Amino acid sequence: MSDCLFCKIAAGDIPSKKVYEDEQVYAFYDIDPQAPTHFLVIPKVHITSCGEITAVNSAVVAHCFEVISRVARELGMESFRVVSNCGAQAGQTVGHLHFHVLSGRDMTWPPG
Ligand code: AMP
Ligand code: ZN
Repeated sequence: MSDCLFCKIAAGDIPSKKVYEDEQVYAFYDIDPQAPTHFLVIPKVHITSCGEITAVNSAVVAHCFEVISRVARELGMESFRVVSNCGAQAGQTVGHLHFHVLSGRDMTWPPG
């Protein structure tokens, strides 16, 4: 999508601190980290949010979780939280599906 921040990041048109990349998925550190380790995993294809996942595009979502598991292992993260905000009320500010991966501090439940 031409006017999407994360599409531009995935394409390399806007700089980011890359954690992982393959043909389908891009992962990069969050610009405003909420934990000692905080990166985002996104599909390169534009999907607006978790609310737009279908049988047609869900394979890349499964792949996102493979990447999360792999990167977490590579970074030595024994405990971490995966979050995806869907819609403004839930806190979504960028309209391209992304999974926050947070680690390195105690976390509370339920989230605010
Ligand atoms: P959300 O608010 O759940 O939609 O998450 C969007 C996330 O993107 C926030 O945690 C932001 O800090 C992060 N973010 C926004 N712009 C950038 C950027 N240029 N590079 C890295 N992370 C970003
Ligand atoms: Zn996009």
